[in-house]
Amino acid sequence: MIVAKFGGTSVADAAAIGRLAGIVRSRTAERPVIVVSALAQVTDALLALAPVVHAADEQALAAGIGALVDRHATAARDLRGAEGALPAIAADAEALRREVGAAMGQALRPADLDALAGRGEVWSSRLIAAALAGAGLDAVWVDIRPIMLTDDRYGRAIPHMPTLTARARECLRPLVEAGRVPVTQGFIGATANGTPTTLGRGGSDYTAALLGAALDASRVEIWTDVNGLMTADPRIVPSARTLRAASYEEAAELATFGAKVLHPATAQPLVRAGIPIVVLNSTRPDDPGTIIEPSADLERMGDSPVRSISWKRGITVINVRAPRMLGAFGFLRAMFEVFERHEVVVDVLASSEISVSLTVEDRTRLDDVVRDLSELGEVWVDHGRAVVAVVGIGIRSTPGLAARLFRAVQPANVEVISQGASAINMTFVVHEADGPDVVRRLHQEFFGTC
Ligand code: ASP
Ligand code: MG
Repeated sequence: MIVAKFGGTSVADAAAIGRLAGIVRSRTAERPVIVVSALAQVTDALLALAPVVHAADEQALAAGIGALVDRHATAARDLRGAEGALPAIAADAEALRREVGAAMGQALRPADLDALAGRGEVWSSRLIAAALAGAGLDAVWVDIRPIMLTDDRYGRAIPHMPTLTARARECLRPLVEAGRVPVTQGFIGATANGTPTTLGRGGSDYTAALLGAALDASRVEIWTDVNGLMTADPRIVPSARTLRAASYEEAAELATFGAKVLHPATAQPLVRAGIPIVVLNSTRPDDPGTIIEPSADLERMGDSPVRSISWKRGITVINVRAPRMLGAFGFLRAMFEVFERHEVVVDVLASSEISVSLTVEDRTRLDDVVRDLSELGEVWVDHGRAVVAVVGIGIRSTPGLAARLFRAVQPANVEVISQGASAINMTFVVHEADGPDVVRRLHQEFFGTC
């Protein structure tokens, strides 16, 4: 059994869904479970309806939902059998209009936003299940919501692994064993009382991994619009190459620090069982893509100690200076309690005897964080920064790498430097404007091209 997940661009229109059908057919012997994202940009378009509801613009709401239904109808027109899905899509769209219509003139609550954002997956999966059936496959639409039990942190709900494992085995496995092809939704779930939730933007990868672990799949395929993980962002480094292989740790670090190909949590459910993830390009299905698997196999490959360079802009550095930190205990805990209280995620941290610098991406609660941190010491904030991460399992065992790295990065000013405990990344902060140049120079240093 395999789990194959198709992202938004791989289901964007009739042509893409036609390619998807070919890919699924080529895998029927491996008994695939299909997980799909919403059609490209549909999630954004759905979320853009929230301000329309707030403004009580009845007409714009109807037009917005109508346009999304049309988009599915247009794709269905060119796919044999797919039009059979349209009544269900239209009925669900009408239900959505009524649900959000009840909140006209109000700001949608987080639970309403999740119910709204998750509709794209419901519609795409209906359309694709019908298209696969029309292409002669024994496809069956499965609603993931009763399987994917989550807590009620709307917008980034946390799945309950034991329950979803039991339910996936109970609901999906018999279908697969009967030779059928289940088609289900990424990204969405529901609480114990059935309220819809989402796992966070880009969460369909994570759904695929959760199901892969639950069903003990032999691999999880992530079908996207690039050839896999790369040595750098090709828009910045035109000569960037596709990685044939990466470890779970490398994939997670790269995803956390800016590589957009995979959701950062994807590897997490698969580590214990050692189930590989393969990232593949749905427009070039015969290309090998990137295989992400336990690192033991990679140590033997012995290529460059650095596997990839990623970067992320829009970073804010928060610095806290507190002389009383010297020799005191409990200071870091007090500091992290502030971040925990305001639910702000810290990416990179570096500390000296009397000061700590941390990077954050989300600025919505920054004022609250700074106010509370000011009780612990002097606080100042640097905006407009970027985090650059050099990632590779070989970094752990290669002396002299830091010297090469900092020589390559000159003359850019490097601010916060950190090496994670896993020692597979070296991360530092530069001014945003220097980011692309720094990435190019590092690529030149470690891969010989830029
Ligand atoms: N459709 C969702 C999003 O745009 C989930 C995903 O594509 O993975 O975030
Ligand atoms: Mg994605």
